[in-house]
Amino acid sequence: MFMLNPKSFGPLRCVVPALLSIALLTACGNLPSTESQGARESAQSAGSPSPLHAAEAPQTGALLPPAKGKLSVYFLDIGQGDSTYIKTAAGDDILIDGGKNDAGAKAVAYLQQFDVDDLEILIATHPDADHIGGLDTVLEAFDVKAVYAPKVSHTTDTFKDFLLAVKQEGRTIKEAKAGVRLPLEGVEAVFVGPVKGYGDDLNDWSAVVRLSYGATSFLFTGDAEKKSEKDMADSGAELKADVLKVGHHGSVSSTSEAFLQAVSPTYAVISVGRNQYGHPAETVLNRLEENHVAVYRTDANGTVTAVSDGITISMRKVK
Ligand SMILES: [Zn+2]
Repeated sequence: MFMLNPKSFGPLRCVVPALLSIALLTACGNLPSTESQGARESAQSAGSPSPLHAAEAPQTGALLPPAKGKLSVYFLDIGQGDSTYIKTAAGDDILIDGGKNDAGAKAVAYLQQFDVDDLEILIATHPDADHIGGLDTVLEAFDVKAVYAPKVSHTTDTFKDFLLAVKQEGRTIKEAKAGVRLPLEGVEAVFVGPVKGYGDDLNDWSAVVRLSYGATSFLFTGDAEKKSEKDMADSGAELKADVLKVGHHGSVSSTSEAFLQAVSPTYAVISVGRNQYGHPAETVLNRLEENHVAVYRTDANGTVTAVSDGITISMRKVK
């Protein structure tokens, strides 16, 4: 059983800067469980890890509004499904997915709590109900300037509701595909997936966006699975990110070892609620742990916030 021990985010993490000695390299990841906390701490401080690669203990407490002059990313606690709200330092508002149908109102309430009046960009990663279900409610509540989605459709009423809401908003959907850049100030945001079409495999169609702000970076993967992960890695696009939104709610279908190596995150966030699919999978949790990634999950931690000043990222969880 994977335990969310905040302490493990600090001293236990294996940080391997390039200049670290071979001796420490060998010790890293193989610290015997009997070793004292003090010894671990000195092993860590000896490496003087770069702040970007050292997971620091998160703050715990109530949700805070977006930090002025910084980038704030909220992995919203909306039950099983995905919904991520981003406020850039320049003041732009971005929403990636809106959870299930009944989560739409929740997502809207979060955004209103943060005084959002409009969304510069709305991204529907793929047509599954746990991602686009709430987006019609979001579209009705806010003035949405641009909507991005991959070029794949679905036969469900939920998907039709989404299309209708986009139409009523007076927008046409812009295609989300590898290479497309989002017109935002102060951040680099580019789709790295989908690299190609995936037929009926809706998850692999997921729009995957990499956002960087200063020296910090984020990768939002939707429900992309191994096929898409391999194509993204093979495409040669930059995938490295400090924070990874884990694909497909931590399902065993995603977060392959090779992809995880390519992204090499310090932090991972799993957007997940009570579900019958076994999300997140033990295999994926173990893989993240073995790679010394500090894991947050919205079912256990509530809404997870990552705030970047362009140099370092600080994490916050509600519980
Ligand atoms: Zn999903």
